[in-house]
Amino acid sequence: MEREIYLLENNEKVGPFTAQQLLQRVKTGELSLQSSAWAAGAANNWGPLSDIIHPCPQCGGELWLVFEYPQKGTGIIVIVLGILFAVLCVGILLLIWGLILINQTKASWHCRNCGRVFPA
Ligand SMILES: [Zn+2]
Repeated sequence: MEREIYLLENNEKVGPFTAQQLLQRVKTGELSLQSSAWAAGAANNWGPLSDIIHPCPQCGGELWLVFEYPQKGTGIIVIVLGILFAVLCVGILLLIWGLILINQTKASWHCRNCGRVFPA
């Protein structure tokens, strides 16, 4: 579902707009990312539009923040080893290490439009 975004223009609430519409206006220079904006459902505070939409530096499309767990596979192996070695002291250390690996996240921005990926 598209988010509904409102702008504050001359002290009046205008909208709703979709992120795509606003990105298009940002791209043409008609709208500033510093404009006051509010996304429906968000906390009731006006903030800069740049907090709500994130344009792609390459194509101006919308960027999404994606979280990945790059060490998850390794973490599971380490935990399995930890269970196998549970009778030894090293087992608990392996379990802790495995949990740390599983919970390591890597965030990156993905462009909906051109598919490029940018580090967060
Ligand atoms: Zn892009």
